[in-house]
Amino acid sequence: MAEKIVAVKGMNDILPPESARWEWFEDTVRALMRRYAYQNVRTPIVEHTPLFVRGLGEVTDIVEKEMYSFVDSMNGDPLSLRPEGTAGVVRAVVEHSALYDGGKRLFYIGPMFRHERPQRGRYRQFHQVGVEALGFGGPDVDAEVILMCRALWKDLGLGEVRLDINSLGQPEERKAHRAALIAHFEQHAELLDEDARRRLHSNPLRILDTKNPAMQAMVEAAPQLIDYLGEASLKHFDALKAMLDAAGQPYRVNPRLVRGMDYYNLTVFEWVTDKLGAQGTICGGGRYDGLVELVGGKPAPGIGWGMGIERVLDLVQQLGVAPPAPVPDAYAIVPDGSALPQAMRVVEALRAAGVAVQLHVGGGSMKSQFKKADASGARHALIFGGDELARGEVAVKPLRDAAAAQAARPIADPATWAADLLPA
Ligand code: ATP
Ligand code: MG
Repeated sequence: MAEKIVAVKGMNDILPPESARWEWFEDTVRALMRRYAYQNVRTPIVEHTPLFVRGLGEVTDIVEKEMYSFVDSMNGDPLSLRPEGTAGVVRAVVEHSALYDGGKRLFYIGPMFRHERPQRGRYRQFHQVGVEALGFGGPDVDAEVILMCRALWKDLGLGEVRLDINSLGQPEERKAHRAALIAHFEQHAELLDEDARRRLHSNPLRILDTKNPAMQAMVEAAPQLIDYLGEASLKHFDALKAMLDAAGQPYRVNPRLVRGMDYYNLTVFEWVTDKLGAQGTICGGGRYDGLVELVGGKPAPGIGWGMGIERVLDLVQQLGVAPPAPVPDAYAIVPDGSALPQAMRVVEALRAAGVAVQLHVGGGSMKSQFKKADASGARHALIFGGDELARGEVAVKPLRDAAAAQAARPIADPATWAADLLPA
């Protein structure tokens, strides 16, 4: 045998039955998006590298060390696999002048790529669902995108997930805070790790985001951005909090919540669970009013979030939530191959009428076909036996309800009885 070729490290296959959980999740997300009137957007997985360098910021974990970047060997273009969804969506909206007639509420679902150390909840190809509400500047839409996450937790049966919020204010406000922050870090220079020392002057805010336990106490004592916010920023934050309060959504103001990308301003938030170990953030987002302009568009505000599907589905499993199993409505048993043409015609007609039919293929005894029918989870067996077919009929045997009797159905027009096979 030839040597096996395996998947790339940190990139996972999703096979049945696990894939059923993914489909259920995606169906649930799409239904949610319809209820909130968010429209689907699909952008390429590969973008020009400068989009992410400019959009996310040069001194960020993603751009510094997590991007899959390469040179297009045909024309020398620096390209990257998308590490997140916002930059590409904003680029697309700008490129197609999609905001010409007002704001847009968009969502995407798809793979993202980051060269991180693979571990639970952290993969090199992972998947996000995300929303971007572009062209709306008020705290109302901030509350909307946050509350739609809560609705999704409910639809998924996840119960309470903790909401952390913060305000990053505006760039000018961050400047004063930044000076105070650098002074604080310089006072504790001996505690700074290598990352922090490197970021001290380029991106000190990000030091607050450190996961280094040795720096926690020092970081906790750092000056808080909220004390540097001006009146307009505070008003925006208060309005958001009032809307969350009125909606009965609890939250914790976390002054150290800064998020991984440079583009955020005003509202930032994360949904966190303590049931997934170290990778407990299942969704993060915030406002990015400067990004559209940064990507070359006419200035327009925006807010959005990105949700890690692997982490959400891990939580779904932790909580024992069982998505409905995808089982066929009927399993077609064909004891004699000569009946296949007739059987094929009937099951095609049933499928056209909306019935999920699994056709037995590969022959075998009646007994072994019945075993397969049972194992498929189907609620009915359709038995295309020679005697029945000679009478122009197919036998329909309920598999899940022992009390129900077998019945004969005419094969001439399956559409007339197809509905009897569907769940009530
Ligand atoms: P973390 O702090 O865990 O690295 P992040 O701040 O880098 O997360 P974002 O860029 O905000 O994450 O992405 C939004 C969400 O995508 C995260 O909250 C998480 O649920 C998910 N996510 C991010 N990176 C990964 C990854 N490598 N594997 C799986 N999910 C991920
Ligand atoms: Mg990260």
